[in-house]
Amino acid sequence: MIHIDGSYGEGGGQIVRSSLSLSLVTGKPFTIAGVRARRRKPGLQQQHLAAVRAAARVGNAEVRGAELGSTRFSFQPQSVRPGDYTFRIGTAGSTMLVLETLLPALIWENGPSAVCLEGGTHNPFAPPYDFIANTYLPVLQRMGSRVTPRLERYGFYPVGGGRVAVSVDGTPLMRGIRLLERGDFADGRVRAVVANLPEHIARRECDALARLSGWAEDCFQVEQVTQAHGPGNVVLIELHFAEMTETIAAFGRKGVPAEEVAREAWLEAEAFMASDAPVGTHLADQLMLPMAIAASHGCSSAYRTLPLSEHSRTHLAVIDQFLDVQTSVEQDGSECVVTISPRDEGRHTGPSAA
Ligand code: ATP
Repeated sequence: MIHIDGSYGEGGGQIVRSSLSLSLVTGKPFTIAGVRARRRKPGLQQQHLAAVRAAARVGNAEVRGAELGSTRFSFQPQSVRPGDYTFRIGTAGSTMLVLETLLPALIWENGPSAVCLEGGTHNPFAPPYDFIANTYLPVLQRMGSRVTPRLERYGFYPVGGGRVAVSVDGTPLMRGIRLLERGDFADGRVRAVVANLPEHIARRECDALARLSGWAEDCFQVEQVTQAHGPGNVVLIELHFAEMTETIAAFGRKGVPAEEVAREAWLEAEAFMASDAPVGTHLADQLMLPMAIAASHGCSSAYRTLPLSEHSRTHLAVIDQFLDVQTSVEQDGSECVVTISPRDEGRHTGPSAA
């Protein structure tokens, strides 16, 4: 039984989700205490509980003590079953974070799966659908897995009600990947989406970004969504490089002018373009899990990214609890190179519960 200290490092929801993923993939049971201890409202919230329940279904797991607000629980998986699943997050909680929790297990199982997720598809503080589809999954694809997502309905915070269908071709063909260069900048694309809100919001975001970027008119697209359950607005910037695509999102909020939302997105895009890194901050923490699992199957991976966030460092420590892999983080000027490779000897440091 692995004992996880949920208050380690960042002490947030990622420790819970990654422990679930790694438990499913390795078959190792775990207990966790101090769940999300460093968050304002500690314990399992609806979206974390949804991840626990979804992982339990996929892994036929015995779960003890996982309820709304729980600060400790245990998880004992039996065997992962690929197949057809529908998961309703129950709130506008992120469907994408639940998907990321389940994907490693479903990818590594023999046999196809079809997963339908209902809830939030475009949430602040979580990967938006477009980031998963255009930035995260293409890397997994290059590592040998075939996962095809389809956005069926937008779901914005706070109403949710979005739907994403994902097919996973269960061929565990993982190979390592080296993402050290991003290649030349090809072009930038902007999509401003409004659901049940006036179209001028999206148009103003595009206009503001056209002024800031100087990109040609055909780089901008306004999308008015009618079938979403609630109102919402997101502006998405895609930065296409020869080797990588980065996806940046900013969300409209009450009282914040459209131009300001556009500026937020642009500042992030500008910071990424000013660096040389192929892997942005969010992708950096999300690639650790699939790369570490690939390393545990003998495949090394490496990527160059911006200085690691505490989120990423915490993530590496959780991985170290479950897998005998070797991770190194080497400073390279203002960037760093993360290498995740197989290791023969076991070593366990990181978020052990006392
Ligand atoms: P908590 O509520 O405890 O903070 P959480 O489960 O809501 O937990 P985090 O643990 O902070 O959230 O994890 C959020 C994940 O979403 C991280 O992997 C982060 O990289 C990713 N993420 C957040 N914003 C974006 C974004 N704009 N684009 C891509 N990924 C994002």
